[in-house]
Amino acid sequence: MDHITIENLQVYAHHGVLPEETALGQRFLVTAMLYLDTRKAGRSDALSQSVNYAEVSQFITTFLQEHTFRLIESAAEHLTQALLLTYPLLDSVELTLKKPWAPVGLPLDTVSVTIQRGWHTAFVAMGSNLGDKQSYLDHAVSFLSAAETVQVLRVSDYLVTKPYGVLDQDDFLNGCMMLRTLLTPQELLALLQSGEQAAHRERLRHWGPRTLDLDLLFYDDQVLWEPDLVVPHPEIAKRAFVLEPMVQLAPGFVHPLTRQTMAEMLSQLRQREQLEG
Ligand code: AMP
Repeated sequence: MDHITIENLQVYAHHGVLPEETALGQRFLVTAMLYLDTRKAGRSDALSQSVNYAEVSQFITTFLQEHTFRLIESAAEHLTQALLLTYPLLDSVELTLKKPWAPVGLPLDTVSVTIQRGWHTAFVAMGSNLGDKQSYLDHAVSFLSAAETVQVLRVSDYLVTKPYGVLDQDDFLNGCMMLRTLLTPQELLALLQSGEQAAHRERLRHWGPRTLDLDLLFYDDQVLWEPDLVVPHPEIAKRAFVLEPMVQLAPGFVHPLTRQTMAEMLSQLRQREQLEG
């Protein structure tokens, strides 16, 4: 992807584990690779369609001078997040923070940390079949929108569906959201779980009634198989109440394992349902 590079910006700041580092300060060097689509700015020659590197250099300097971190890892982590939240055109940032004279008592040139952070696209399914279902789904949307590191880009219509698994319970209200997030998949799962808890979710039996259920469906085109997190969510192909809202949000989105679009997966499910009567 296109990028603008700020190389070895010098900043005098006070980060470090040793007391003298925070008391006296030292020189840091910052290299920031700013990933963004520069095509429009390139065609129009308008600064407003790009990221102003003079402004970003000043932002980095002020940020590192106004905060104190023990670790360069922490300084880099907080600085990249602040850059991504401040400059909406940025897609991702690769940042190298160097300490040229790290006090380790041995001759070395520099110690540095390099990290890459950026925005990811995620899809989340939501469902409720207890109490005021619509307000639980609305709560999920506003709960996620309130997180600084999450932007809710689109919300599907809510649809009423018959219960799944355990049949002697109330109908469900289901929907999906499309998000842009700086969180990792695990961090996003933890946020979804705290959203469920905030809705006073009570699980009395597996697949039984719940005030709010939030599932991570997709995270970019990543495939994860971890003890507590499977992505893409393994039940997608069987659930019309997930595929229908997904078709509304992103009909051409390709499932990274089946290689089918959401629209293809829904029509295949409908055919299977018809065959099964
Ligand atoms: P449920 O409430 O029935 O959706 O199940 C929640 C459990 O499923 C939690 O313990 C999660 O750790 C686990 N889980 C695995 N993969 C996912 C996913 N993609 N989204 C949400 N929960 C997941």
